[in-house]
Amino acid sequence: MNAFTRRQFLSLSAAATGATLASRSMKVFASPVGKSAKISVAITPAIRTFSYNQIELLEGPMRRQFDTNHEFFLRLDEDRLLKPFRQLAGMKAPGEEMGGWYDIDPAFNGSGSFHGFIPGHSFGQYLSGLARAYAVTGSKPTQEKVRLLVQQFAPTVCSAFYDNYHLPAYTYDKTSCGLIDAYRLAGDETALAVHAAATAAVVPHLPEKALSRREQYALPHKDEAYCWDETYTLPENLFLAYRLTGNPRYRELATRFIEDDLYFDPLARGENVLPGEHAYSHVNAFSSAMQSYLVLGNAKHLRAAQNGFEFLRSTQSFATGGWGPDELFRVPGSGEIGASLSKSHASFETPCGAYGHFKIVRYLLAVTGDSRYGDSMENVLYNTILGAKPLQEDGTSFYYSDYNMHAHKGYHPDKWPCCSGTFPQITADYGISSYFHDDDGVYVNLYVPSRLKWQQHGANLSLTQSADYPHAAHTEFELKSDRDTTFAMRLRIPAWAGPKTALSINGKPFNADLTPGRFANVTRTWKSGDRIALEFDIPLTLQPVDPQHPKMVALQHGSLSLFAVNPTDAPVTRANLLRASQLSAGSLDWEAVIDTGKMAFKPFQAIGKEQYRLYQEVSD
Ligand SMILES: [Zn+2]
Repeated sequence: MNAFTRRQFLSLSAAATGATLASRSMKVFASPVGKSAKISVAITPAIRTFSYNQIELLEGPMRRQFDTNHEFFLRLDEDRLLKPFRQLAGMKAPGEEMGGWYDIDPAFNGSGSFHGFIPGHSFGQYLSGLARAYAVTGSKPTQEKVRLLVQQFAPTVCSAFYDNYHLPAYTYDKTSCGLIDAYRLAGDETALAVHAAATAAVVPHLPEKALSRREQYALPHKDEAYCWDETYTLPENLFLAYRLTGNPRYRELATRFIEDDLYFDPLARGENVLPGEHAYSHVNAFSSAMQSYLVLGNAKHLRAAQNGFEFLRSTQSFATGGWGPDELFRVPGSGEIGASLSKSHASFETPCGAYGHFKIVRYLLAVTGDSRYGDSMENVLYNTILGAKPLQEDGTSFYYSDYNMHAHKGYHPDKWPCCSGTFPQITADYGISSYFHDDDGVYVNLYVPSRLKWQQHGANLSLTQSADYPHAAHTEFELKSDRDTTFAMRLRIPAWAGPKTALSINGKPFNADLTPGRFANVTRTWKSGDRIALEFDIPLTLQPVDPQHPKMVALQHGSLSLFAVNPTDAPVTRANLLRASQLSAGSLDWEAVIDTGKMAFKPFQAIGKEQYRLYQEVSD
């Protein structure tokens, strides 16, 4: 058993060099961790995700985004990625600096340039993105890249890395995630020992408990950036480390950073304490509440995540499913979300926000079986992340979606920001977000071109989905099986679905309960070659930005937001918008006729350089 006591943490962290630290820590964890360990977990949800390699995305924009990110990070030079870690460990550090947030810059002080903001912050996310991409594809060069990065990172691990470091918990949390994924998804057996060393290195730099930003500002600080650490997101990965190793020290550390006092307790009581908080990190913290619920079993943490997500959806969100203008949650009833349309271009922190949103939806869907979480994921997918511009070679990244009245799609001025780290993670997660399973069968959560392979009651099955959804209003599945098998196929019927939504099997209408906002359950004996088709009745609706701005409305086709392109200030009515039409079936181009001519609309993914507008001001 690998007792990982506080004393060992401290003695490990006191080691003079990273090399000594890593090798000593590896000795502490030398026995076969995860195999002999007794892991006690309170809750095992009936609904589970599939393994990454069971779902293949087929040709389409999601597959293209995933492939682009996978190839991008496979190409990235190891020396450059390791440079700040080697520099701060006093080692030789060949290779060019990455630039942007990733470098060391002693002049950084939280104002002015963000060069050198958080050295090496996103290393763990790039490692995680690669490990997940390996798990999806089985690509040997990707697995080898993960192995090399872990091997070369190990000797750099040292507590001195975090001396005078602005956001130690922030960077450690991402490093932790990357090493966990290297172990569990890319089969790197050394990664858990490196994880132990990295944990030992950061512990002396962490506060006694999770601190809100307000609490951090109240403490003495050399500059403002010392107040931005995110200790409240730590428990998720620490609980995952506990689950992999059985080491109770991880569980204790996770428990220490559960932010009950100011966040989860009031959320669990139904108090909306989101306003004023930093948006992405507080949504990401919902996932810490969920791991806490799963491991420790306190229903309060499930309530906190459910209530928090409901406050997010109902009081902080745009029609796109994005949230948090200027990365801040707003006071409901203040009209600040609507006001942001003219004040801000930083409307939704897209790769990070979508990543955190997908993750909490997977947890909540698994625990509750409530399909409306899937509706919310679909909203965020089509209207935000799928329209993110690709990373550029120099680290220039897509960061904010812009919902200003005069909006453009652009890149963030700082290279290698947070969103360059979550982007390869979320695109690798597209597959596992699309289907779920329980003992009785499968859940189809997303209607995307994809192939699922699984076993059910001893049968080997594959389900191939062909969809140009949501641009075409239907999706089709073909089942292949090596024997007839009885199982449940659950299909998410979006809450907005109209009464003409219809299901057919092998070309014949099939009478099933297609209640909107639920999973339709089709349990039958399935045969190889069975074809399932779902036709959606998709309504056009108008969604006001907030109750204080009832005339600022977004045009929605089901879950798809339609953005006016090259907008003018010509008068437009609700009736004009609700008569908008798609130029042809499956087209990304829409138009509405107004008194002075026509208005063109497109979904976010189809917008290039043109000016666009999400919310139209209607005259009636
Ligand atoms: Zn970000």
